[in-house]
Parts: sequence; structure tokens; C-alpha cells
Amino acid sequence: MKKHRLTMYLRWALLAIFVVLVTYAAYLHQVLGGAKAPSIHALCPFGGLESLYQVFTTGSFINKIFAGTMTLFALTLVIAILFRRSFCGLICPFGAIQEFFAKLGQTIFKRKLVMPASIDKPLRYLKYVVLVVTVVYAWKTAGLWMAPYDPWSAYGHLSEGLDSIWQESAVGLIILGITLLGSLIFDRFFCKYLCPMGALYGIIGKPSPFKIVRNEIMCVNCGICNNNCPMNIDVQHSLKISSAECINCQTCILNCPKTGALNSQAGQTIIKPLTVIVLVMVVFFGSIFTAQVAGVYDLTPAALKAGEPITYDEIKGYMSIKEAAESSKTGLKEFYEKFKIPVSVPSETKMKEISTVSPGYDFDNIKESLKNLSNQP
Ligand code: SF4
Ligand code: SF4
Repeated sequence: MKKHRLTMYLRWALLAIFVVLVTYAAYLHQVLGGAKAPSIHALCPFGGLESLYQVFTTGSFINKIFAGTMTLFALTLVIAILFRRSFCGLICPFGAIQEFFAKLGQTIFKRKLVMPASIDKPLRYLKYVVLVVTVVYAWKTAGLWMAPYDPWSAYGHLSEGLDSIWQESAVGLIILGITLLGSLIFDRFFCKYLCPMGALYGIIGKPSPFKIVRNEIMCVNCGICNNNCPMNIDVQHSLKISSAECINCQTCILNCPKTGALNSQAGQTIIKPLTVIVLVMVVFFGSIFTAQVAGVYDLTPAALKAGEPITYDEIKGYMSIKEAAESSKTGLKEFYEKFKIPVSVPSETKMKEISTVSPGYDFDNIKESLKNLSNQP
């Protein structure tokens, strides 16, 4: 275990870096707007899955999703095929936040609490239901219908203030609270029970040659692997971990006191935990770099051409009413009428924030209803 301590710290450091980077990106999005900084939706591979049907049928992306999101989605699938749910165990910032909360919980409660099996087992299937329902509705509505219920979206908007999130996505905020409190008590609460992407990666990664294997002869049955597994997998009594629940985090190996009792294996080849982590990072960052060089890693909309009017469909939530009217070459009074904006709302208000001044105002819905109305001269 001691010899793996540095690898363990490296894993935590990487997870912490991913949390900091995404949190900062989400903050920049609030401050600079969607034209300059990507939204939390554009940065989440799930957006790629939600946009998939539209990409195949029309060649375009759903609102707030870009080529870079599709690239992230594709590369996480490649990671799942090669390394199973390593994205969850080594990269996902939302998974990392839950794990940090679990560590805090274990410090507070002085022990690791485990959900009773009679509740835990059926609840694990819930994420597959979430996967099917969210994807079917996203494909049907061609939009991010789930955003108001999405705890990750709520997290990404925390810098807007709780009042604003409560107005826009109260359910998402409540689920975020349940996830964080749940993780204090039960490690990786959202990953185990609710995450649609975890469900998908688990299925895709099933045939992967990558497995954790236990050597019965070397094992001293101390149970440390079971105590440390964030997904509560019974490592101690398995010879090979092929469960779709395993997030390939390497924690069991890193904590095992007996050298050779637990190993990561690809086929018959034993691969050290550090090598697994490095390989996953190389595939992740290597693919992003390649996509950037190939010009398919856009996470923000293309810059508007100076002087050219945009359509109503291209109006973004980060634009003020005045900017949106000017960009679409519509008179301010006519714009207020077309977008059904109450005259009491100041023209400096951002489109996505009109609902905070005028409760009940639904920018996305009104924009959708104006979709086919040309504002071109
Ligand atoms: S695999 Fe390692 S940690 Fe798990 S029971 Fe055996 S010796 Fe203990
Ligand atoms: S079995 Fe090992 S690699 Fe899999 S989730 Fe548990 S600790 Fe992580």
C-alpha cells in the first residue's frame, strides 16, 4: 500500500484539477457569456449523446451543444471501450466531488456507511431508467429538456447565486443537494444510482479486455479492498471484477497491503495502476489535442460576422435584450413585442435572466416558437 501512496495522491490530484478546471470554466461562462466561454452543457459528454439523433437526422447540434461536445462524447466512449468506466473513476469532476464529500463524511462519521443491499441493489438499476428516459426525451424534443432537473447544470450555475438557480432549475438544485448530502453518507451516490452516462459507460465497457483480477493465493482476506471501493463491489470474494459498476478507479489495488493479490489486467498482461492512469490521461488529452488540431473541438458558437444580422434562432441567453435586437437588426420596440418581453424589463437584461425580472418568462420556448420566423430583410 505504501508503495502506491504516490499513485493514490496523483489520482486525487488529477481529480481535484478536473474539478477546479471545470468549476473555473463554468464561472467564466457566467462572467464572459457563452460566446467566449463554454457552458457546463457544452463541456459534458452527455450533451453529445443528447444531440446524437439531431446530428444524424439534420447534421446540426441541439442548442448549447457544439462539435467539441460531440468529440468529448466520442472520446469518452473510446475510453469506456478500452478502459471500462475509467472516465468516471479518473476524470469525471462530478464523480470527484462526490468522492471528496464521501471522504469528508467518513471523517465526520468515523466510518464508511454502506446502503443496505435490499435498497442498494434495485436502486442501481435506476440509472439505466434515467439513461433511457433522458435520451428518448432529448431526441424527441431536440433540446436540453433535462437542464432544469440536472444537478450538474445546477452546480455549473452556482456562481449565479442560489436565488437565480432556484428560479431556473429548482429541481436540479434539490437533486444537487441530495447528491452532495447523499455522498457524505454513501460514496458516489449519483454515480451508483442516477448517472445516465455511468450507465452507458458501464454497458459499453463490458467487453473491454481491462479487468481487475484477484489472486486467491496471494490474498490474505483482510477486506481492505472492500472497505475502500467507492462503488461497494465485493472485490474480496471475486476472482475477476467484470461488474458494470466498477469505475476502474484503481483504489482497491492502491490500498491492498499484499503485493500481487490484486492487479489490473488487459488480457493476460498485468498493468500497474500508475500505467493505467497515465494511459487514460494520454488517450483523453491526446484525443482533445488531435481534435483541436483537426478543428473539431469548438465548445462555443462561431463568432458573428460583423454587420451581418443573426436569425432569432441564433439569439443566445448571454446577450442583453438590446444586443439581441441590434444583432438581429430588429427595432427595440418590435423586438420586445416579438419576444413577448414585458416593457418593464430593462433592455440591459440578459435574455436568459428575463425570467428573474419577470417570473414565468420562458426564453427558450418563445425562441422556439419564433424559429421559423425570418428576421432577414
Ligand atoms: S485483495 Fe488485497 S485488500 Fe482485498 S482482501 Fe485480499 S489482500 Fe486484502
Ligand atoms: S473494484 Fe476497484 S477499481 Fe473497481 S470501483 Fe471498486 S475500487 Fe475502483
